[in-house]
Amino acid sequence: MLSTADALATLLGAASPIAGTESIPTLEALNRVLSEDVVSPLDVPPMNTSSMDGYALSTGDLAHGNRRFPVSQRIPAGHAPEPLKANTAARIFTGATVPPGADAIVMQEQTEAAGDDVTILHSPKPGEWITVQGADIRSGSIILPAGTRLTPQALGLAASVGCAQLHVRRRVKVAVFFTGDELTMPGEPLKPGAIYNSNRFTLRGLLENLGCEVTDYGIVPDKLDATRATLREAGEAHDLILTCGGVSVGEEDHVKPAVEAEGRLSMWQIAMKPGKPLAFGAVRRTPQQTDAVTSDETFFIGLPGNPVSSFVTFLLFVRPFVLRLAGVRTVAPRALSLRADFTQNKADRRNEFLRARVNPAGGLDLFPNQSSAVLTSTVWGDGLIDNPPNHAISAGETVRFIPFSELLN
Ligand code: AMP
Ligand code: MG
Repeated sequence: MLSTADALATLLGAASPIAGTESIPTLEALNRVLSEDVVSPLDVPPMNTSSMDGYALSTGDLAHGNRRFPVSQRIPAGHAPEPLKANTAARIFTGATVPPGADAIVMQEQTEAAGDDVTILHSPKPGEWITVQGADIRSGSIILPAGTRLTPQALGLAASVGCAQLHVRRRVKVAVFFTGDELTMPGEPLKPGAIYNSNRFTLRGLLENLGCEVTDYGIVPDKLDATRATLREAGEAHDLILTCGGVSVGEEDHVKPAVEAEGRLSMWQIAMKPGKPLAFGAVRRTPQQTDAVTSDETFFIGLPGNPVSSFVTFLLFVRPFVLRLAGVRTVAPRALSLRADFTQNKADRRNEFLRARVNPAGGLDLFPNQSSAVLTSTVWGDGLIDNPPNHAISAGETVRFIPFSELLN
C-alpha cells in the first residue's frame, strides 16, 4: 500500500498549470488565480499623509520655546497643500497631504485653539503621526506574485495601486459523475435498497469552492458501456474527470475497466483511513488545439463512494491537484499542533484522518463514530487529525490538526 505522502507526490508530479489565461476586471476576480505578478506603478501612500486630525508644523519652530502659532492654512483630505510658512501651523485632517516644510503632526487633543492661533501643548518628535510616502508599497515592487489566489484583501491591495484589470488563469474545467444503481436524488422517493446521492452535493460544493467550472453528468448506471460512453464524452472538453464510487474491484465496479479501455489507469491502495482506494489516470481525447495541460488526454481521478472517504480523499488529494492545475503556488494546507483531549488506545496500521473539533479550552475533541459512512462527523468536526500509522493517542499529547478552514477554500 502507498503512503499518503507518496500518493500526493505522484499526483502533484503529474499536474502543471493549464495554459489558458485572460484579463478580467478586478471587481470580478475573487478566488481567481493570478497568471502574472502584480507590480505597483506607484508609491502607497502616494504622498506623506497625516494619520491624525490636528496641526502640521515644523519641529524646528518649537525649538525656541514658542508654543503659539498662527494657523496659516486648512488642509482637508483630497486637497493639495501650500508649503508651510515659517513659524505657523496648518490645520490638517486624517489622510490629508502633509505640507512641504512640516515634519510633524500634533493631534488636536494636544492643542488649544485660540481665535486664528493654536497653542501646542506637546513636543512632537520629527515624523510624529506622519505616514511617509511609500510606507506601505514602493513603486515597482511586486505586491502579488503570479500563483496567488485572489482573496478579498488581495483584490483591495491590487485596487490600492490602481489595477482595474488582472491577468488570471482560466477556470479549471472538471467533469464529475457518480456511479451506483442504489443512488437516488433528493426529491425522488427512496425505493427499497436505495440511498440518496449525498456525495453529489458534497463534491459539487467542494469543486465550486475551488473556483472550478463544473459539468455534472449526474448518476451513471453501474454498466461498463454507460461508464465508457460518459468518460468519452467528458474527456473532450475538460481538464479533469472526477468520479465517485465503483473504484473497488467488485463485479459492480465498472470505473476501473472503463478507464483502462478509454485511457490508462493506476489504482492505488493508499494506507489511509478513511479512503483506501483511489484511482488516478487519464482518458484519451481527440488531439486538438487546446490550452489544457496535455492535448491528447484528460486527467482522471476516481474517488471511493463512502461519503467520508470521498470527502477526505478530495480534501487531501483532489484539492491540491486542482489547485496545481489552476496555477496556485502554495497548495499544502497549514496544520496546527494541538493538544488531544481524548485517548484513542487502538493504533491503526494506516494513516488515520480523524474528524475532530477544537473545544473552548483549545484542545481537540474526537467525534465518537469515525466510520467512513458517517457523514455527521464531517459537519460536527472542524478539521482532521493527521494521525501517523501505528500510533495510539493519549490525552494531553500534541497532534497534527488540519483545520477545515485550510481545506475548504
Ligand atoms: P462504492 O465505492 O461504489 O463501492 O461505494 C461504497 C459505499 O458508498 C456504498 O455503501 C455506496 O452505497 C456508498 N456510495 C457510493 N456513492 C455514493 C454517493 N454518491 N452518495 C452517497 N453514498 C454513496
Ligand atoms: Mg458502487
